Amino acid sequence: MSDNASLKARREAATPRGVGITAPFFVKRAENSELWDVEGRRYVDFAGGIAVLNTGHRHPRVIAALRAQLDDFTHSAYQVTAYESYVALAERLVRLTPGKHAKKATFFTTGAEAVENAVKIARAATGRPGVVAFSGSFHGRTLLSLALTGKVVPYKVGFGPFPGDIWHIPFPMALHGVTPEDSIEALHRLFKADIDPRRVAAILVEPVQGEGGFYPAPPALLRALRRECDEHGILLIADEIQTGFARTGRWFAMDHHDVLPDLMTVAKSLGAGVPISGVVGRAEIMDAPGPGGLGGTYSGNPLATAAAHAVLDVIEDEKLVDRANVLGGRLSARLEGLRARVPRIAEVRGPGAMLAVELMKPSGGPDSDFAKQVQSRALEQGLLLLTCGVHGNVIRFLFPLTIQDAVFGEGLDILERALTV
Ligand code: PMP
Repeated sequence: MSDNASLKARREAATPRGVGITAPFFVKRAENSELWDVEGRRYVDFAGGIAVLNTGHRHPRVIAALRAQLDDFTHSAYQVTAYESYVALAERLVRLTPGKHAKKATFFTTGAEAVENAVKIARAATGRPGVVAFSGSFHGRTLLSLALTGKVVPYKVGFGPFPGDIWHIPFPMALHGVTPEDSIEALHRLFKADIDPRRVAAILVEPVQGEGGFYPAPPALLRALRRECDEHGILLIADEIQTGFARTGRWFAMDHHDVLPDLMTVAKSLGAGVPISGVVGRAEIMDAPGPGGLGGTYSGNPLATAAAHAVLDVIEDEKLVDRANVLGGRLSARLEGLRARVPRIAEVRGPGAMLAVELMKPSGGPDSDFAKQVQSRALEQGLLLLTCGVHGNVIRFLFPLTIQDAVFGEGLDILERALTV
């Protein structure tokens, strides 16, 4: 049997260091919110495969749907021979996403691919090239999505030049003194100094910035972006790849707002680990690219669409939207209760279960060392945590929303010890 140390040596010899890895162990099996490594050690999973496992590892209904699909067919290439589950999934997303207007949906494989295709659709619909995104954002690692991503180290280092006509403005962060007005002022400056708004196809925004630090977009920002878009004929794209599917205590983070996006990207928890992403948007915009302009060999693969239907069923039947609010409430109460003992806790924030705690040094300034210590102390005690933020000083929580109360309580106890020791 392989052990963690020998697998690590093999990994280092056979795979490039560019694939950075958080945990020092290799996974053998997983169930709901628990993981076991190759040496039999158990971990509580508060990382959820980076926001992919809102319905947990191996949900029985997802596994059953995959088994049933395996017995029918595993691939046909939707563009060659179509199948009902793709169409039915599009119908469901059209119904579930915010807004009662006519919408259409199409599927891809990864989040980056969904973002790239949302930009393609926006460019085809407007006939314009420019895209405005935000500093601190994360939209993927392919070259266009990487150009849109607003964080240099480690993502962009050495990979330029990037596609042109991509611009960044600051994302509001109350804790760091950046207001929605600052963001909009920067947008106005951009329109004066760098690009004519009549050449901008889209503004791309995460309604809660994910990798960037779990900063929720203030309602005033989204309203102002909608106004700017309407004034200049620009499309608003909400990247819901990390925020989607009940994580924020609503089906989608945009449900917290009175603003409708023109296009929305989804991925991650839609497939519960089977790769699938999508773009949902206004029907007339979605129809802008001509036949053959969209798609991909594996786009909307039948195993992935089968998993996605089961995921949506589970979210509905197990009331995971409500559960996200209950779990998020418990976690934030626990963290808020620790503030007196842990002055490094600068802020506990986020909607529903899309929560994070930002850690600052007593002298001010981001405390990424403390975040790393908490992460490794938690891991020693069997809890898997993720950090995020441009400075890596934010601990984010992405536990499955199906987590059992006892396992959740166990995770919270370890978290408390890791923060207070
Ligand atoms: N957009 C957002 C908001 C994300 O969080 C991510 C992944 N962290 C992506 C896009 C890219 O998704 P993928 O890694 O599946 O390409």
